[in-house]
Amino acid sequence: MTQAASVVSARDLCLTYQANDAPVHALSNVTLDVRKGDFVSFIGPSGCGKTTFLRVIADLEKKTSGDITVNGMTPGEARQARAYGYVFQAPALYPWRTIEKNIALPLEIMSYPADDRKKRIAEALDLVSLSGFEKKFPWQLSGGMQQRASIARALAFDADLLLMDEPFGALDEIVRDHLNEELLKLWARTNKTICFVTHSIPEAVYLSTKIVVMSPRPGRVTDIIDSPLPRERPLDIRESPEFLEIAHRVREGLRAGHSYEH
Ligand code: ADP
Ligand code: MG
Repeated sequence: MTQAASVVSARDLCLTYQANDAPVHALSNVTLDVRKGDFVSFIGPSGCGKTTFLRVIADLEKKTSGDITVNGMTPGEARQARAYGYVFQAPALYPWRTIEKNIALPLEIMSYPADDRKKRIAEALDLVSLSGFEKKFPWQLSGGMQQRASIARALAFDADLLLMDEPFGALDEIVRDHLNEELLKLWARTNKTICFVTHSIPEAVYLSTKIVVMSPRPGRVTDIIDSPLPRERPLDIRESPEFLEIAHRVREGLRAGHSYEH
């Protein structure tokens, strides 16, 4: 094979929610490929279908028409094969479980041996700078720390595909910078494929090999940008002309989507 395999492949994908008053066209003719090892960001205003797209990949919503495959399978088959880890937009931790027990849960369900679970939990907590918080309950952590714990839970699972829905949206900028850097290192080390939803242009440009710009009503793709930046990126790359050029193009794409409505 000369080309990296498609991890996610969407062709004319449409999803219409049947709301009470009128149908909501959340996704309209979305066509794109996510290749193995890609870091793909989805950026666009609130309501443009970013979460819906991740949920279709994860088999949490059903497409209305078009085609989508995940690792060459239907989303349902990929879910059965535990093809992905999912970080939800809001931290979804069980309040009655400690942080380590929250991270352990999917590993327990998958019957990982206790030793292995312990090792994975320690590594995942280290990656999100939460070592030492194993025995705390979610309510004892700040909102940002809770979100880091749910990232750790998706990481511990060690699936090749990570779906992340605005995972750093609630964090302050310093923590976010640190986690962005850590995420890039993790991605480089593990060759994971990442689909990442964000509102932040600098975050999308800093992290991604491919940026998918979306617009609302109907949710569609206005631009797909293949980043020329090297895969290894110090934080100060954000001041380089190449970086600012891509950021400019994203902004243009967002603007084009906006004028479409008028
Ligand atoms: P984003 O994540 O980009 O903010 P969403 O994918 O959450 O957007 O939503 C896309 C559109 O679909 C929005 O207009 C939203 O209100 C609508 N929507 C999302 N989920 C449902 C649902 N279960 N029923 C009806 N409409 C929905
Ligand atoms: Mg969303």
